[in-house]
Amino acid sequence: MPEFRLYNTLTRRVEPFAPVDGQTVRMYTCGPTVYNAAHLGNFRTFLFEDLLRRTFRLAGWSVEQIMNLTDVDDKIIRKAQANGQNILEVTEPYTELFHKDRRYLRIEDAEGYPKATEHIPEMIALVERLVANGVAYVADDGSVYFAIDKFADYGKLSQLDKREVKSGARVAQDEYAKENAQDFALWKSAKPEDEATGAAWDSPWGRGRPGWHLECSAMAMKYLGETFDLHAGGIDLIFPHHEDEIAQSEAATGKQFARCWCHGEFLLTDGAKMAKRVGNVANVVELREQGISGTVYRHFVFNAHYRKQLNLGEDSLEQSRAAVNRIGAFARRLTEATGGTPALADAATRAEKAFLEALFDDLNAPEAMAALFTFITEANRELDAGGSDHGALERARAAFRFMDAVLDLVPEQESDGELAAWVEERLAARKAARERRDFAAADAARAELTARGILIEDGPDGTRWRRG
Ligand code: AMP
Ligand code: ZN
Repeated sequence: MPEFRLYNTLTRRVEPFAPVDGQTVRMYTCGPTVYNAAHLGNFRTFLFEDLLRRTFRLAGWSVEQIMNLTDVDDKIIRKAQANGQNILEVTEPYTELFHKDRRYLRIEDAEGYPKATEHIPEMIALVERLVANGVAYVADDGSVYFAIDKFADYGKLSQLDKREVKSGARVAQDEYAKENAQDFALWKSAKPEDEATGAAWDSPWGRGRPGWHLECSAMAMKYLGETFDLHAGGIDLIFPHHEDEIAQSEAATGKQFARCWCHGEFLLTDGAKMAKRVGNVANVVELREQGISGTVYRHFVFNAHYRKQLNLGEDSLEQSRAAVNRIGAFARRLTEATGGTPALADAATRAEKAFLEALFDDLNAPEAMAALFTFITEANRELDAGGSDHGALERARAAFRFMDAVLDLVPEQESDGELAAWVEERLAARKAARERRDFAAADAARAELTARGILIEDGPDGTRWRRG
């Protein structure tokens, strides 16, 4: 088996990676802030982490993955206040939606999804430890700050230029720019809106709530230990979030926090950071509505290396749709075949090897997918040739299963019922659009139907459709 290598943000190098106990990769992945639907950019990061954990299993390791759910923060409180709700009423439906969307994209269950609001005592204990160690101090209003000049390693992850550090100056927001590296809030004294929305707890420093960075340190150490193998997230989290996690954790324990840090690049829309709707696909809900399966989005994401920016465009989703259809057709063909040729077995062995080498080389998913498609081409040629070698056919099936256990790209075979329901829904949308004389929307609905090979015919007694 080739050596497993990963890019470590801490060292800025691709390095050999293995879990410290040789058996279980203990990994922490920063999860969503559940105050709205996670967008496809967030899911690019979660898919990269899904790929990581599945690839770890190929290496023979088991995985203990913890993904937190941020269910208390500035944005959640603002929304709760605007709606006259408490924070739980805001976060519960979005937590449910997150899991639903994640399943649609076939993102495997992590071993745990701890919530920030359920770990307040652990966070308070961590702050107490930092105060006791002399690296945190209580401000006049009862907030507690981390003193960055008391932690010599501050800035080691983001390679912060020390001159940019303004020790003594304070920042209370959770997010701030590198130029403003300052003492950051571990614990924020309660404001009226925190009390009004159920976002305030008792603490040794009075009523208050945790800072965002603190939750990840407290929960990672609770579930994975003070030192664990890997910490991952999107590239925007390097500073300040992960830098502050390191500071809080290592200043408390005196031990290394995460051994390796991995960051996925951003999903862009027309060259800009994905923040809001662009084109007509921004969320999983929209993928669903447009009949774009989770496998199509998986393919689209894995087609780019995780450390490269990726631009979301409709064309590329169309190409991914064609690619997963090809994979689906091949899967069916392998199931139905009755025999193969010796060359089929050779192709299977070559494919497995190339696949493994690509993924173990810093998770090179595009190259791994290329190995899969080369295999499909070669195997189709061999299956065309006929052959009655059952062993060879079994080798091919095993190789395909081996690769698909990681990529998970075989589209569900759409039942006629599901297709019909989707077509009826789109026809109703088209009819409604016409009735309100929104012809652009009506044409768009028709185009979606045509794109999936559905022919429609308007007649005196309504619209009829058939597969083209
Ligand atoms: P948030 O809910 O904002 O904390 O983000 C959840 C995860 O999504 C984090 O790991 C972010 O780094 C990541 N993320 C946010 N925006 C994007 C994007 N446009 N592309 C890829 N990952 C993103
Ligand atoms: Zn985090």
